[in-house]
Amino acid sequence: MLNYRYQLEQYNGPATRFLCPKCKDTRKTFVQYIDKETGKHVNPLVGCCNRESKCGYHYPPREYFKDQNIEENLFLHNYPIASPEPKTPSFIPKDLMKKSLLNFDQNNFIKFLIKLFGIQIINGLIEKYCIGTSNHWHGATIFWQIDIEGKIRTGKIMLYNAVTGKRLKDTHNNIHWAHNTNGKTDFELQQCLFGEHLLHGNFKPIAIVESEKTAIIANIYMPQFIWLATGGLSNLTGEKCINLKGRSVTLFPDLNGFEKWNLKRKELSHKIPGTCFKISKLLEKNATEKEREEGCDIADYLLKLDPKSF
Ligand SMILES: [Zn+2]
Repeated sequence: MLNYRYQLEQYNGPATRFLCPKCKDTRKTFVQYIDKETGKHVNPLVGCCNRESKCGYHYPPREYFKDQNIEENLFLHNYPIASPEPKTPSFIPKDLMKKSLLNFDQNNFIKFLIKLFGIQIINGLIEKYCIGTSNHWHGATIFWQIDIEGKIRTGKIMLYNAVTGKRLKDTHNNIHWAHNTNGKTDFELQQCLFGEHLLHGNFKPIAIVESEKTAIIANIYMPQFIWLATGGLSNLTGEKCINLKGRSVTLFPDLNGFEKWNLKRKELSHKIPGTCFKISKLLEKNATEKEREEGCDIADYLLKLDPKSF
């Protein structure tokens, strides 16, 4: 069977629909043809109008190439379909990260941790995870995303309350990103799991949580794992987990995330063969009614316990 190389672009948001060259309907009714080999549009005029009250404009690639006197193979050469070339990620210079690894007396999150666990344990964790201080907001923390090759993908800047250890969301709702302060407009952002650099040369079982804060705190209680964070409930993806191949991985979802991550676990086991994905019911089993109502996460739960009891 021949595999046609060009197809009408599938709908994927308003950016995938255009102004029709014929009827110019402002609702953007025009669908362009895509070259499956390159992932690019053929030409702004090559496509089909979708308007209900028929405009009838249809200019297929076959005709376009004929009109242009271009000899083009209309069928794909190879099976399976070649996917567009993956882009190479941009990196942040190491110096920029190193410069942030100080002024911990002005870092609310670190101040909170030192009060609970003492300076010695926390110094160890600062070094391990490369936790930085940011002057974007007074008291802010940077969680650097360093990949398995030791390259810095970005840094996530957030502000915590130094007493409660909770995020200050009311006045500083937004997360700020180090790659945005870097002044580069063509930065190709490809995030990795927070803590991915710890996988290099270390074959301990892996534990994944949602927040950077939880990964750092859980380290103190259960050092038998390498603790990584996705940075968000929906950030547990195949792309981010690609370097977990062949490892034993346990997901530790927050209370509101169990169902979602349990579905993800099944999907990831298919996508990354040879990797065993388990899910922990620690919170599901132990959370009180009140903790459920508060939507408590695994860090809240652990902080109520004595690390020595583990
Ligand atoms: Zn039209």
